Amino acid sequence: MNSSSPPTTMKGAPESTPLGSADHVVVEGSMKAPPSRYESQKRRDWKTFLQYLRNHKPPLTLARCSGAHAIEFMRYLDQFGKTKVHVLSCPYFGHPHPPSPCACPLKQAWGSLDALVGRLRAAYEENGGEQDSNPFAARAVRIYLRDVREGQAKARGIPYEKKRKRGKDVPAAGSDVYAGDAGNFQDA
Ligand SMILES: [Zn+2]
Repeated sequence: MNSSSPPTTMKGAPESTPLGSADHVVVEGSMKAPPSRYESQKRRDWKTFLQYLRNHKPPLTLARCSGAHAIEFMRYLDQFGKTKVHVLSCPYFGHPHPPSPCACPLKQAWGSLDALVGRLRAAYEENGGEQDSNPFAARAVRIYLRDVREGQAKARGIPYEKKRKRGKDVPAAGSDVYAGDAGNFQDA
């Protein structure tokens, strides 16, 4: 018995779809669909990066960006991170669930950085950048990401390869915002 849908026979009833009907997509005279979450996040990331370049000292243009600058940008973002990364001297180093707070810094989780790099790598080329000079595709960036992943896994006590026995690559622990293409992530 399905009597939850509103009556449709009423004349002059408003045509608008009730809130909560997620299937309803408004197309107003154009093919413009609302950007996906990935797309809007990518645009935001790209804007943030351009902003970062504008404020860079000494001044830095997109054309002169290297992998080193991409890494510098990720380090800059650490101040906005929410992932506690224990320093070696912290008694909770290697504890996944410390019993009390400590003074260790908050950083960007590896998974967030990995996804960010994937988005910016795409954005760079979508905005006219050459594939060969893409700072986010640089080898140094891959190495940096790998180091962050291993460092965070140790600091947080996360055995990120614990499912290795299954013989399949699994997303690493800590990749809470995993949205990238970690398939390109090579353990060189
Ligand atoms: Zn700590």
